[in-house]
Amino acid sequence: MKSRPVMFALIAIVLVVGAWLAQSYVVINRAERDVLLMDTFVRLIANGRGAEKALDDTIKEMARLESVLSAHLPGSDVYRLNTADGAPVEVSRETIEVLERAALVYERTNGAFDVTVGAVLRAWGFGSANLSVPTAEALARAMSGVGFTNVEIDQGSRTVRLKHPETRLDLGGVAKGYIVDKAMEYIKARKVKHAIVDAGGDVRVTGGRPGQYIWEKPRAVRVGVQDPFSPEGLFAVVETFEASVLTSGDYERFFEQNGIRYTHIIDPRTGYPVRGLTSVTIVTEEAALADGIATAVMVMGKEEGLKLINSWDGVEGMLITEDEEVIMSTGMSQITNVLR
Ligand code: AMP
Ligand code: MG
Repeated sequence: MKSRPVMFALIAIVLVVGAWLAQSYVVINRAERDVLLMDTFVRLIANGRGAEKALDDTIKEMARLESVLSAHLPGSDVYRLNTADGAPVEVSRETIEVLERAALVYERTNGAFDVTVGAVLRAWGFGSANLSVPTAEALARAMSGVGFTNVEIDQGSRTVRLKHPETRLDLGGVAKGYIVDKAMEYIKARKVKHAIVDAGGDVRVTGGRPGQYIWEKPRAVRVGVQDPFSPEGLFAVVETFEASVLTSGDYERFFEQNGIRYTHIIDPRTGYPVRGLTSVTIVTEEAALADGIATAVMVMGKEEGLKLINSWDGVEGMLITEDEEVIMSTGMSQITNVLR
């Protein structure tokens, strides 16, 4: 008889532990991190077991990649290339990978996307505090080194050489997307099935957004597209379970001189900042490609840009012109809700 309270206590303990164990299997754990990386607010969300650790590891990896690919950080691969005076420079595997993505977009856009515009960006003052229209002479000199054919990549020795003395690299149009891809790869490798990597509005989604319990079906993630005419607001929402959504805009970095807006995206044919489109959103699986294509379409303008999107398998896009015209590929209009 004396053992009855003990038995009740044991049963109670078993029930509590059991319930706790059961809930840890049926409730989906949600981990979130906010960090400042690549000059922007990065938000990572992962759902499932191991999500916390996966995100902490991923943040470290993203910071490492940034230090390799940045154009400004001394010691980065790009910095060493830009100061090598034409000598071959041994670079990381990641730099070669980014340059390969850049080469692909360069070829498919007939050079509208060209990471050798570094010196031209500098001539306009981007990356410094002195933004102004360059002299014709300064611009011509910077332009003389533009052209991806000036980049010599040697896969075997993992070296890169800038052949022309004026050539400078700037990976700003593709590196963020690449780092977003790598972050997602890192998260997935840690067995997380649902995640969002959001680098200041440049987003990659996998597995949708799960509910609270394992039996709930995941819903689509709603990715906001910034309003180019009032960047605090949203222009549209794109719904996806599995894709990257990246936006290039003339409002992201620019200066004004004599009432003219000069943006940070350069037309490699003229050396002048682009005009016409104010924002381009690209949806496709790979963020690095989406990033490159978005920048390229800003350069190509609405007709050529839309042609490129329509001819590229698995690529959808939305173009917004300076005079507020909105143009979408067919697939894009099926997943996009314009809010204004
Ligand atoms: P995004 O915000 O992805 O459009 O990238 C813009 C950045 O890409 C700029 O800040 C430059 O670093 C770089 N960039 C500018 N013009 C070009 C171009 N024509 N091709 C490749 N990269 C460019
Ligand atoms: Mg880009």
